[in-house]
This record gives sequence, structure tokens and C-alpha cells, in this order.
Amino acid sequence: MFEDNYKLRGLRNKLVKKLREKGIRNEAVLRAIATVPRHVFFENALIEHAYQDKAFPIGEGQTISQPYTVAFQTEKLEIKPGDKVLEIGTGSGYQACVLLELGAKVYTIEYNRRLHELAKDLLPRLGYKPYFFHGDGSKGLPHKAPFDKILVTAGAPVVPRALTDQLAENGILVIPVGDREKQTMLQIRKHNGELTTTEFANFAFVPLLGQAGWKI
Ligand code: SAM
Repeated sequence: MFEDNYKLRGLRNKLVKKLREKGIRNEAVLRAIATVPRHVFFENALIEHAYQDKAFPIGEGQTISQPYTVAFQTEKLEIKPGDKVLEIGTGSGYQACVLLELGAKVYTIEYNRRLHELAKDLLPRLGYKPYFFHGDGSKGLPHKAPFDKILVTAGAPVVPRALTDQLAENGILVIPVGDREKQTMLQIRKHNGELTTTEFANFAFVPLLGQAGWKI
């Protein structure tokens, strides 16, 4: 149904080599990226772009994140098999596939109905089965909380309180926070109910919308 071949696998391995050179060290994350066929998220005419290390438009003004960004955020989540993970911003669904490859149980929420429907249709056909939700992920997913890990894949103006509340003890939240153009990647850990934040490099994400996000 979806073609994968020697050439595409070769391009994926080249991408993994590039991510390694850029500093991604977690072998399980690199293996997941070597496994998920990123080209199926692209139209046929654009397949040559699939294994370049760059973000790409997926319609509705949104993007599939740059592979380096996916690898960086996933590494900072320190996923263990069986972790219950909330992803905010399903987008194409690619990041959810990477999390599933790592053995996580994935809950993914998307604000844009069309993108939500597209991912909900595509991923099961590839054999990837996260739980899909449509709505405002800046409020988290209170009826499914707590989560071992929470990943925000859109740029937030602040850390939404709902998300730290829905983080399990010893949990990790990874979220880019800043202004509309540029955000700092934060890794927030909860230990004995206390939050500790580590700051990483700057990234540029599309804005997080909704109650705790940017107003359009
Ligand atoms: N993780 C995605 C992937 O693998 O393709 C990339 C996500 S894209 C950079 C950011 C996504 O966040 C967009 O699809 C956007 O519609 C979504 N988004 C923005 N605000 C949101 C909110 N409050 N709740 C859920 N999704 C939101």
C-alpha cells in the first residue's frame, strides 16, 4: 500500500547519520527515526524532501517538524517502554509514530480538525495506533491524566498550568516557550511534587493556540 524501498531506507539512514553528527545520542531515538517512513507524510511529488533535515508544510498553515527537532524533543522526554505520553499538536502524526516506536502508549491531541482527521485515517494504515483527540491541548487531557511524559510540539507563550498539573510524579514535560518567532526548549521534571526546569537551545515552532496559547 505504502511503498518503502532500499533507496528510501538509505535516505533515512543518511538522515540518522546527520542527526548523530548534530548531537543526538540516544540510540533508541535514532532507531525509531530510521524506522518510521517519513516520506508517507509527503505528497508523491515532494518525496525527495522527506529525508532532508527540515520542517515542511502539511497544509492548514501547519508543518511537520524538522527531524532534528523531533529527535531532540524525543531524547529530552527520556521515553521508557510503557510510558504514558501526551503529545500536544498531532500535526501530520509523524512524531506520534516515533513515540510509538519507542514503546510508549501515546495520546495525541490536535486543534485543527482536518489535520486530526487526516492523521487518524493515515496512522492506523501504517500500523501505528495512538489514541487520537481533537481539541485544545493547552488544557491537557484531564480525563486521561496523569501522564509520565508530556510533549508540546507548538510554541507556547507560557508553560500551561494544566500540563504541569497533569504530569505524573517523576514525569517530564518538554515544551518550547517564548515569543511567536523563537522559543527556548524547556525540560520540566516533577519530583516530590516540585518542578525543576532545564533550558536548552532555541527553536522556531508554529504557535500553540487555545486557552493557554496565543490568541490568533
Ligand atoms: N507533531 C507534529 C508532527 O509530527 O507533524 C508537528 C506539529 S506542528 C509543528 C504543531 C501542531 O500543533 C499543528 O498541527 C497545530 O495545529 C497544533 N496545535 C496548535 N495549538 C494547539 C492546541 N492548543 N492544541 C492542540 N494542537 C495544537
